[in-house]
Amino acid sequence: MASIRELHRQLTNKERSAEELTRETLDRIETIDPQVRGFLQVMADAAIDRARRVDAKIAAGEAIGHLEGIPIAIKDNICTAGVPTTCGSKILENFVPPYNATVIEKLEAAGAILIGKTNLDEFAMGSSTENSAFQVTANPWDLDRVPGGSSGGSAAVVAANECTVALGSDTGGSIRQPASLCGVVGMKPTYGLVSRYGLVAYASSLDQIGPLAGTVEDAAILLEAIAGYDPKDSTSLKTEIPSYYKALKPNLKPKRHLRIGVIQETFGQGVDPAVEQAVKDALTVLQELGAEVQVISCPTFRYGLPAYYIIAPSEASANLARYDGVKYGMRVEDAENLIDMYAKTRARGFGSEVKRRIVIGTYALSAGYYDAYYLKAQKVRTLIRQDFDRAFNHVDILVCPTSPTTAFKAGEKTADPLGMYLSDLMTIPVNLAGLPALSLPCGFDEGGLPIGMQAIGNVLQEQLLLEVAHAYEQATPWSQKRPKL
Ligand code: GLN
Repeated sequence: MASIRELHRQLTNKERSAEELTRETLDRIETIDPQVRGFLQVMADAAIDRARRVDAKIAAGEAIGHLEGIPIAIKDNICTAGVPTTCGSKILENFVPPYNATVIEKLEAAGAILIGKTNLDEFAMGSSTENSAFQVTANPWDLDRVPGGSSGGSAAVVAANECTVALGSDTGGSIRQPASLCGVVGMKPTYGLVSRYGLVAYASSLDQIGPLAGTVEDAAILLEAIAGYDPKDSTSLKTEIPSYYKALKPNLKPKRHLRIGVIQETFGQGVDPAVEQAVKDALTVLQELGAEVQVISCPTFRYGLPAYYIIAPSEASANLARYDGVKYGMRVEDAENLIDMYAKTRARGFGSEVKRRIVIGTYALSAGYYDAYYLKAQKVRTLIRQDFDRAFNHVDILVCPTSPTTAFKAGEKTADPLGMYLSDLMTIPVNLAGLPALSLPCGFDEGGLPIGMQAIGNVLQEQLLLEVAHAYEQATPWSQKRPKL
């Protein structure tokens, strides 16, 4: 799939109509998706209608915006009015939201073509998309491997050229880790930059919506379209949104001296040697582009994972209490009384990982354990934030691997929840601190699987992150490689 800029050029020059582009995308999905299984739902008719409206605008000589006519996929935990939004869960299998998420309203206003809803781990809980109640998505680079998760469907369909860009959500790494495993760009914005109104809540103090794209430039265009204050989300930030796209330059030289910190604790033990080497090589490239690289210690970084697995399940146990067979989705009919109906609906509607989190979270929040677990985890969260604050006194950006490994085999970690949780070791601290970060391709391992590098910025430093990532991308061949499908 060509980049947004290229597609925009073709559309405005009438080399191709939006309807043709949409039909080609739908054809590609029809041929490729039976192997990738990234889509839960394709909105073919609505997409073609929308494309025709864009074509009418072009025919009338009106100028079109960058996203106009561009096919986009949406993670299926983002509400789309009139279109099922399942969260990859049996309990919401037949749930059709009566309203759009704010990001969907913004994309529709920008003229993007919503092409379909993508697979995810149930309620975004997981790192491989194997926790979906409906299907297992394959990694387009090797169909026996996982695409990462929980936004595995969105990452896979972008990598497989089934779509130009996609939206994901990231609570502990769910945009960045699948981006890394699928060889695409994925960005988690600063907490509060993008409205979560209409995003089905997992852990509300951590959740953010963000872009997945083939290139940094495409991610910048998409972020610009979805960011901004929304009175419907009480955590939304009142901040000016710069033109992330216009700020991109092919190199770093004219900028003030850029200081990059490499997080010492993210190398060594447990990290694939190929991943470590690729990130080190990327740092050399960044140095050649004019950045100064220094080693930075974030000693509390490694406590992110245990703190997260108290905080996220605690919030999830509260958020998921609403699925009781009364207000939303599935209801078991063969119940003897109300309590029995609640119990049976939740027992049959939720998968085992979701139940595990509800049990952990309910336990951690229970009287007598609250201080020992939840409160302690919140204190750890503060320490992690302080570590980052200290680091950003010395450097502008922090770099580390996105994930300790490349894509693993389907089934390899399903019986080992802790092993699965370790996939997000390096992405989780970023959510706990509310910071922006992106994952971008920085090489391949000996098996030809993509490797991702994570760049973390201080609060609201999205523009700087995108500029640096873009300069790196221009200097390296990684983003041009696509899986052979
Ligand atoms: N893999 C992590 C989890 O299972 C992160 C998920 C996410 O970011 N939604 O919670």
